[in-house]
Amino acid sequence: MIKTRNYRIAVIPGDGIGIEVVDAGLHVLDYLANESNGDFTFETDFFPWGCEYYLENGKMMDEDGVEKLSDYDAIYFGAVGFPGVPDHVSLWGLRLAICQGLDQWANIRPVEFLPGVPRRLNHPDVDNLNWILVRENSEGEYSGVGGRNFSGREGSNEVAVQSALFTEKGCERIIRFAFDLARTRKRKKVTSVTKSNAQQYGMVLWDEVFARVSKEYPDVETDQWLVDAMAAQFVLHPEELEVVVASNLFADILSDLGSALAGSLGIAASANLNPVKRTPSMFESVHGSAPDIAGKGIANPIGTIGSAALMLDHLGLSEEASRINQAIEETTRQGILTRDLGGTHNTAEITDAIIKNLSKRK
Ligand code: ATP
Ligand code: MG
Repeated sequence: MIKTRNYRIAVIPGDGIGIEVVDAGLHVLDYLANESNGDFTFETDFFPWGCEYYLENGKMMDEDGVEKLSDYDAIYFGAVGFPGVPDHVSLWGLRLAICQGLDQWANIRPVEFLPGVPRRLNHPDVDNLNWILVRENSEGEYSGVGGRNFSGREGSNEVAVQSALFTEKGCERIIRFAFDLARTRKRKKVTSVTKSNAQQYGMVLWDEVFARVSKEYPDVETDQWLVDAMAAQFVLHPEELEVVVASNLFADILSDLGSALAGSLGIAASANLNPVKRTPSMFESVHGSAPDIAGKGIANPIGTIGSAALMLDHLGLSEEASRINQAIEETTRQGILTRDLGGTHNTAEITDAIIKNLSKRK
């Protein structure tokens, strides 16, 4: 008898369109589990954490929330943030608390064109973007070091300090991760992005670690850029990029740019990984809770469904993962698109179409 593999997934829909797109992703996972005829199942537990929870309970998640999550095989996350709760409270209280609490120090964000999706970047040398942005996810500009009111006075004389923390260990592990990832890819190239001319401590340390680690990977081509020039390079020479590794803040900004160039923020998937300890990793789209379109049923679910594919790949279901990606491509190729991509279809219609395309590929 074949033993059923059961994957325990903690689901945190969060706020705004996070709730809608996670629901879409769960439909896709349900379909695959049913179709597997008992080969695998997904056991999902819902956590109602987010801004509504905050307004009722004065906290974004339970105090022992990270501990509660630590037993799961993976975390499937929607988005966080809604008007009425300051963004820094919601972000730090939930998403960053989980990433840092579970030491998910590597955030990967693939960027690719989808067939049938109007491109914002038309470049003569580029058939497809084949980028993976690797974001340092545990320190840097998001270390939370600093404070308000350093001058001892509030009002116009207030001084606020926000420090970026760079450790040799933190730099080394993310840079090494990027090199290892590059080795699995066609071109084998890593581009490092800093602003080490102006940020003369932490980012100079990053550059030195990059130079040292790169010597261990003579088979991998390297390149180093300042972030402002890199933003231009994304548009002017996209063909020069493959794996791009950057600090927490810079990679965050560059990944919004990358996904917009590919078509929309709504199609970008991401994974927050702890590649060593294998504590549960967290899978979420790159976009936020989009209060402007929340509750209308029109959000693009592709980023979150693509994040489910990253999750399945991580759990060892790589065939199912690539089938999800193929079904997404088939759906956009058929011109079934949400409004952010210039179409007229809603969240439920895209999700149904993706599931239909999944079933065709049996
Ligand atoms: P965060 O700080 O959490 O990253 P944000 O302030 O950057 O959030 P988003 O919530 O990502 O903002 O939204 C930015 C814009 O992109 C909004 O106009 C939103 O409607 C649009 N958008 C984001 N995600 C989607 C999606 N899945 N489908 C359609 N439009 C989207
Ligand atoms: Mg954003």
